[in-house]
Amino acid sequence: MSDLKILCLPCDGIGPEIMGASLDVLNAVSSLLDLSISIESGLVGLESLQRYGTTLQEDLLLQARDEFDGVILGPMSTMEYPSVSEGGRNISGAFRLGLDLYANVRPAKSRSSVRNKAPGMDLVIYRENTEGFYPDRNMYQGSGEMMPDPDMALSIRKITRRCCMRICRQAFSAAVARRKKIAAIHKANVFRMTDGLFLECFREVSKEFPEVQTEEILIDAFAALLVRHPEVYDVVVTTNFYGDTLSDLASELSGSLGLAGSINANAETGLCMAQAQHGSAPDIAGKNIANPTSLILSLAMMLAWLGDYRGDPKLSAAGRLTEMAVDQVLDNPVYWTRDLGGSSSTEGFGRYVSKAVCSLTRESVIKS
Ligand code: NAD
Repeated sequence: MSDLKILCLPCDGIGPEIMGASLDVLNAVSSLLDLSISIESGLVGLESLQRYGTTLQEDLLLQARDEFDGVILGPMSTMEYPSVSEGGRNISGAFRLGLDLYANVRPAKSRSSVRNKAPGMDLVIYRENTEGFYPDRNMYQGSGEMMPDPDMALSIRKITRRCCMRICRQAFSAAVARRKKIAAIHKANVFRMTDGLFLECFREVSKEFPEVQTEEILIDAFAALLVRHPEVYDVVVTTNFYGDTLSDLASELSGSLGLAGSINANAETGLCMAQAQHGSAPDIAGKNIANPTSLILSLAMMLAWLGDYRGDPKLSAAGRLTEMAVDQVLDNPVYWTRDLGGSSSTEGFGRYVSKAVCSLTRESVIKS
């Protein structure tokens, strides 16, 4: 079945390097499992700004929505972007909103082979992606940030019942397939209306999933508890900004920010965007030393997501195969990149994962 059209957008900083390694792995998986995948590249980010006067052309966004099954987006150098009126569009925000990719799924898993600060941690954060404190996502017109005078800045946070219900449903569905426990992270003791509404929705959705054990934890306490008992948590659901922050904490605890995959998805349309959790790492860009694991694992998650959505076992197997190959490579310190304490290049790491893909048999993946 799997006729897939993927749009690949390397973007800024280490983006082109980690994208190259990820596409090598995709090609290896694709040829092993006879997948029919076509890949097209597009220009976004600082290069697009230079050439077209904007970091993201609207046409490209519409093309992604109407003509592609999935997008792989590299990291953005957002801090270097000018204002929106000068062409500095937040690409990932525009995709999340424009394609209504409301679920940002961010797993964090400690591996015994990789030095980590959270032994036994294996959790997944479901972060709402389309509203919250993000000024490009919470207004019909204008921005959610404003300055009434030069010495005062204001920020608006939007929380809606519709968005809370749908992210909670996604998270509960995931919990059913995992350890059947879920934690809602909030600050409803202070943000009584906004986080209060989120909690109300969480409780409402919990009635649809009586087999799932629920817990409600204040975000400040959760930051400490995650460090103290990382192994306790399984599915975590939260609003946009909290999820953004907590997922970086969780992935760094698991060994490195460079290890954390993520997808942005819509369960109704099936559209999915793979995106590394980390930023464009300008301090190491162009040196061929970045760890491409995050983007490769994001790609694996996207293949698995599309496989589940389309009921295509070959695509689901492709996702599992990619993850298994990454795990195999991470098991051996000889293959590690510098952030993990090794000396492999970005390109070399991609090659090792591709080789690991070829060493796994189709049968072992289908059985797993
Ligand atoms: P960063 O995530 O880019 O880097 C933080 C630290 O982690 C740096 O020391 C970096 O070298 C390291 N790191 C990140 N990814 C790595 C990888 N794959 N392998 C090895 N080391 C890695 O965060 P930052 O430095 O705060 O931000 C840099 C730029 O990225 C800024 O312009 C910021 O706005 C942007 N940013 C973009 C995204 C995104 O595209 N989704 C997310 C966060 C930050």
